[in-house]
Amino acid sequence: MTESGMAREVESVNHTWIVVGSDGEAGVALDVLGASSDPTALVVGSRDLAEHVARSVGDVRWIDAGGIPVEAWAQAAATIVAAETPAAVIAVATPGGRAIMGAIAARLDAPLLSDVTTIRAREGGIEAERPALGGLIVETLHASTPLCVLAAPADTASPVRREAGAITAVPATPSAAVTRVKVEPSPDAGSRIAEAERVVSVGRGLGSKDSLGIVEQLVTALGAELGCSMPVADELGWVSGDRYVGWSGQHISPKLYLALGISGAPQHIAGMRNSHTIVAVNTDPNAPIFKTAHYGIVADLHQVVPELIEALGQ
Ligand SMILES: Cc1cc2nc3c(=O)[nH]c(=O)nc-3n(C[C@H](O)[C@H](O)[C@H](O)COP(=O)(O)OP(=O)(O)OC[C@H]3O[C@@H](n4cnc5c(N)ncnc54)[C@H](O)[C@@H]3O)c2cc1C
Repeated sequence: MTESGMAREVESVNHTWIVVGSDGEAGVALDVLGASSDPTALVVGSRDLAEHVARSVGDVRWIDAGGIPVEAWAQAAATIVAAETPAAVIAVATPGGRAIMGAIAARLDAPLLSDVTTIRAREGGIEAERPALGGLIVETLHASTPLCVLAAPADTASPVRREAGAITAVPATPSAAVTRVKVEPSPDAGSRIAEAERVVSVGRGLGSKDSLGIVEQLVTALGAELGCSMPVADELGWVSGDRYVGWSGQHISPKLYLALGISGAPQHIAGMRNSHTIVAVNTDPNAPIFKTAHYGIVADLHQVVPELIEALGQ
């Protein structure tokens, strides 16, 4: 049986739904289902978003969110989806997607699996795959139906149908429990990493926040922006969160990407692989980053960085 055949089986058990709360989510959710799937989409957002999703999905049910946060529609979305007894419901793990999927899973009394990349029908339920251990292994799980699935955010283009799908507005009432008070620029914002021609990125190999000073000197000498791997921002807090590069962070394509003490996990590579020239400094000659880098230096970054600054005449 082919992969696409298996994806169809998921539908034939019952049917599948995707829930979309913002741009770019439909492609990711459809990817999880496989090319031959034909789910129903519940869009929580603007008419523009519903029309965008209808380019890829034949049956679009639309809640006009009218600027009210997606989270306020979670219970309404759960009521609409649960009434259709779906076999599987898929959303992307954005803040809104997580909130809606939590409500749907509770309403359906269904298992909720995260980080899923693929689902297919299997005897007595659905099989789901997801990467684990930083992408080194793929874990396969079996779950009963109905199943709720969250996919990791990614850059995935939506397939385009020959004919746009039908959009049906569905009446829904938001919960007054969540309202938006204001939206303003974050005090941490200001990273121009997405537009930068040169990015110097640090990973856990930096060792400590104290070593950031010398790297910042190199950043200045190169007229670059500082980037980092996810753990440097998320776990260690050495660099602000708007600067981490990768699957779930910034997707950048500078002329020069200099990776210092970054191992090169697939999730990191996903955000910088389109850089024009990639240079990596790593003490481990077998570090995966060297497979993507155009130039590799097997050395201690604490030695290399001062030498680069000197070579740049700073
Ligand atoms: C769902 C999910 C999403 C994720 N999204 C992202 C993402 O968007 N971006 C991201 O970056 N990660 C992401 N990750 C995490 C990712 O899997 C890796 O864990 C992470 O990228 C590793 O960061 P690192 O390379 O800094 O650290 P490590 O993997 O610990 O690598 C450190 C490297 O530094 C080298 N080193 C040590 N000392 C020195 C030295 N003195 N000089 C030179 N080199 C040295 C080591 O040899 C090693 O290769 C995600 C993970 C998951 C599960």
